[in-house]
Amino acid sequence: MVSLFKEKKNVDVLICGAGPVGVFLANELAEFEINFRIIEKLEKHPEFSKALLRSFISIHGKRCQSETSRYTPRHYLIDALHEKKTMRKKHVPNVEFCMELIKYEEKDDHVIAVVKNTKNNVEEEIICQYLVGCDGVHSTVRKGINGWTFEGQTLKSSWGLADIEIDHELIKYDQITNFVVPNEGIIVLFPLGARKNTFRLVVKICDEEKKNETNDHVTHGLTNETPLPLEELQKLIDERIAPIKLELKNPVWISNFRINERIVNRYRTGRVLIAGDAAHCHSPLGGQGLNMGIQDAHNLAFKLALVIRNQAADVNKLLDSYEHERYPVGKNVIEGTGFLTKMMTGNDYFTTFIRTRVAPILFQFFPQSVFNFQNNLMQNNLHYLPGSSEILHKYKPRSGVENKLIEAGHYVQDGLLMKITSHKLHERITMFDIFRSTALKHTLILFTLNKGVTADCNPLIETLLEIYNDYKNTITPIIISYQGIVHDADVPFMPFQEEGREQHIFVERQFELHEKYGVMKEFGQQAFVLVRPDLYVASAVFEDDVDELKAFLDQYLAKADR
Ligand SMILES: Cc1cc2nc3c(=O)[nH]c(=O)nc-3n(C[C@H](O)[C@H](O)[C@H](O)COP(=O)(O)OP(=O)(O)OC[C@H]3O[C@@H](n4cnc5c(N)ncnc54)[C@H](O)[C@@H]3O)c2cc1C
Repeated sequence: MVSLFKEKKNVDVLICGAGPVGVFLANELAEFEINFRIIEKLEKHPEFSKALLRSFISIHGKRCQSETSRYTPRHYLIDALHEKKTMRKKHVPNVEFCMELIKYEEKDDHVIAVVKNTKNNVEEEIICQYLVGCDGVHSTVRKGINGWTFEGQTLKSSWGLADIEIDHELIKYDQITNFVVPNEGIIVLFPLGARKNTFRLVVKICDEEKKNETNDHVTHGLTNETPLPLEELQKLIDERIAPIKLELKNPVWISNFRINERIVNRYRTGRVLIAGDAAHCHSPLGGQGLNMGIQDAHNLAFKLALVIRNQAADVNKLLDSYEHERYPVGKNVIEGTGFLTKMMTGNDYFTTFIRTRVAPILFQFFPQSVFNFQNNLMQNNLHYLPGSSEILHKYKPRSGVENKLIEAGHYVQDGLLMKITSHKLHERITMFDIFRSTALKHTLILFTLNKGVTADCNPLIETLLEIYNDYKNTITPIIISYQGIVHDADVPFMPFQEEGREQHIFVERQFELHEKYGVMKEFGQQAFVLVRPDLYVASAVFEDDVDELKAFLDQYLAKADR
């Protein structure tokens, strides 16, 4: 095969793979106006999606839901990328199809990636500052560096998937339906939402001998085996759930898949990082693969943006925090979905006993523990641990006062506020509305009690402005005051208004938001909360300890030139 080197091009980030995770990362980098390319070896986006959009994808405030199984998460994300292209005057790159990463080499200050155009076999060298592998389970990026392992196991079972229509009184369009069949495992029906009778059927076809697969050859996800024809699938379902009869109609897509439970030993090697299925894969029964990959990309994007813009105090520390924050989440989900899959499909005496005898009791008498397990598995209430991440502030008040402040590593809380405008108008606004307008930077919130928002009556306003002046490029300051003590005359002129930004002072009437963030009246202390662009709290300190916040910022973000 002819292979010609054509040209060398420089770019800040090269994203390998335009699956949902790669395209999400591209969207994020486009928001941060980072110079990137995204390559995909396929000729076009696949028509069908492995992952369902059951729990919406939210892209910078826009919520999308699957209308048909043909319109996949990838398509939504691609649309979002195109929208950015249209809305912005700046260049936003398209996915480059038929471009396959063949190999790469990491140098001190760049990576050289060799990419082949699969239509004409012309090879191109792309020189990038960072290479991010979003190239799925068989990741070329992961295999490109010795010692980057993908440990775990291949389950001894073969599965079928079909997007079909079912009309039956037992099957509700707004519920997931499970049939747990003794000795055969499970049959699950997920509503697809396109029409009330469209579902994704997932069924364990059979158990098989354990595959002896290595890191280099992992069969996970959809397989190339010929799927069961509809008649055989119908027969299998009829036999397993008789006397119930579900008629499977009008299949849009039938496929087979296999399950692996694997995770990498690291998420980063120097200038090369991986995200999504390239880093972890597990049973799709919890429906978490896509969510987890998108969270990886969300966690990584702002860190890459800080590094590329020279706004990180310590590049290695910041990039290492990506692995330190995301690895435990991956491990936890793999263990949780692994346990769930075993419990729902295992045929041995122990699992059958748990499934048929213990689980019904748990559901009946301890619904909260079942709910907690499910919540954990679905990554609701996810938070990162300050002890494991270099960029989360481990804080203990010096005064010894009980610390009820929201902890670093926790996701922000929403609440209702009034926005103070210059014409005596107070508009209602939510905390999330505010974050939507500030989230390309960190948001530094000063929670005042009732001490006012002018520098004369509240010296912390001065401190806030001081910090802002040091970190102008990376921090947006806002003030959340308590009760209607703000009048037009009190609103000071904030230097950040020079940038043409809106007023950054908000008032809350109920004290709820202060309480949600742990700023309690009885402690009498105002507080600063620093929120990252991915909306996790980086630091929260009482006013007495503002020097600690400054010291933390010193280690985290580079100061702006004054
Ligand atoms: C049957 C099934 C059902 C599932 N259901 C759900 C669900 O309901 N909910 C959920 O959250 N998750 C689900 N998942 C998991 C979900 O599909 C994956 O987690 C998700 O697709 C991972 O996205 P990704 O972008 O990381 O990888 P992929 O979707 O695998 O995309 C990787 C892309 O990289 C490209 N690529 C690979 N190598 C190269 C190269 N060398 N050069 C250029 N391009 C390359 C590939 O062509 C591909 O387009 C399911 C998975 C399966 C198998």
